[in-house]
Amino acid sequence: MNRPLSESLLPPEEHVLSTLEADGRRRWLKPRLSKGAYYRKRRLVAYALFAVWTVLPFVRIGGQPAVLLDVPARRFTLFGFTFLPTDTVLLALFLLALLLAFFMATALFGRVWCGWACPQTVYLEFLFRPIERLFEGTAGRGGPPKKPVSAARTAGKVIVSFLACLYVANTFLAYFVGVERLGRWIVAGPFAHPAAFLVVAAVTALMMFDFLYFREQMCILTCPYGRLQSVLLDRDSLIVAYDRRRGEPRGKASKKALGEAGDCVDCMRCVTTCPTGIDIREGLQMECIHCTQCIDACDDVMHRLGRAPRLVRYSSKNRDAGAPKRLLRVRTVLYPVLLGIVLTAFFVVLAHKTDVQTTVVRNPGSPFVVTDEGAVRNVFQVKMTNRRKTPRTVTVRVTRPAAARVVAGHERVEIPGGRTVVAPVTVEIGRSAWAGHPVPVTLEVRDAHDDTLLGSDEIRFLGPLGAVHPAKKETP
Ligand code: SF4
Ligand code: SF4
Repeated sequence: MNRPLSESLLPPEEHVLSTLEADGRRRWLKPRLSKGAYYRKRRLVAYALFAVWTVLPFVRIGGQPAVLLDVPARRFTLFGFTFLPTDTVLLALFLLALLLAFFMATALFGRVWCGWACPQTVYLEFLFRPIERLFEGTAGRGGPPKKPVSAARTAGKVIVSFLACLYVANTFLAYFVGVERLGRWIVAGPFAHPAAFLVVAAVTALMMFDFLYFREQMCILTCPYGRLQSVLLDRDSLIVAYDRRRGEPRGKASKKALGEAGDCVDCMRCVTTCPTGIDIREGLQMECIHCTQCIDACDDVMHRLGRAPRLVRYSSKNRDAGAPKRLLRVRTVLYPVLLGIVLTAFFVVLAHKTDVQTTVVRNPGSPFVVTDEGAVRNVFQVKMTNRRKTPRTVTVRVTRPAAARVVAGHERVEIPGGRTVVAPVTVEIGRSAWAGHPVPVTLEVRDAHDDTLLGSDEIRFLGPLGAVHPAKKETP
């Protein structure tokens, strides 16, 4: 006899995921909003972040965008400095510093990033869920709407969410293409720039998928940071925790007076408000994004019962166990030290970076020629990249050895802002100064107007072995 599939499957031994039913279906969450002290603070932070993320692409520092991640050109401008493809060391140090700063913040403050500043949380909790509550009216109750939502309300929610996604997608894109170019694309319309239009459409579609459908699954299933944090936290890191000693045994409010119950009245408000659907009373869990909604929910319950707040609160594993707070731990010492070393290295390398990235390579073909007068000449290609947005007029000079000089080439070179120019330059060493072995030469790129040094590079100058006689004309 054929049994239904649900009967033929073995039930799971334990609950697997907070967003998964026992039969594998998704458990849809409609978390109840808890407007407590932490929520108000998070909302302020969220609005500030909305403003910063929206305005930042418009901000310019020294004529350049504050942030522009030009992936096709492999140029990353961050707060006035442009990282070029040749700045691998600098970029690696910057990313390492960022990583260590994350590690340090996690060791000290737990998942503060997830709950307070991650764009996924901030946009979902303070833009898309409010839109949903506006149309579906579940504010303050939690759970699915009591009555089925009308098609008009659903359509209203989707349209407003779509417009919000369009705004977020365009903001996101502005970081990669710049506001000027994005503005031109918008004005010109989708058919003038189909590729750009497709990018905006794809990003908008992805955001619709994420903020209307995928939601908390992003944090629970896909985000690597969430998983990393379980190893980045220690017993003294800040976590959101339930005060078991105070709360247990759970029971009705009346039982507390009889000494038969703790402070937790098992009202489930901390569970129904949780955006990842977990029960914080079961201890620290990977799904907890430290959003503090359960703290606000429980504080409200305690307030109504006339009991002290913070039954659910910011704490640490050691604090929960009654151990004294330890600020000085291996990771809280190691991370700042490593961060200090990496930042020092970053600024040392940065201090040696110049406004015009200069690379000198040998001209293809003959490495040197000897003139009728016995002078030795090398032709080099000087590749100059202007890190600034403003154009520069530069001159190329040889500063070492003293006997070398530029005899032909581009003494005045125009480099447009943010562009690379390659200039062939001929360097000569006179017969009397040529000692018969390769010598290093230094080429400098200077501002044509005020002679400021903008960049330099070194290369070996080649010539014939031994001294050159005027009559003896050589080419290799
Ligand atoms: S909100 Fe507070 S009282 Fe209610 S179940 Fe959670 S911990 Fe217990
Ligand atoms: S357990 Fe509390 S802090 Fe953690 S995600 Fe749920 S509501 Fe937020």
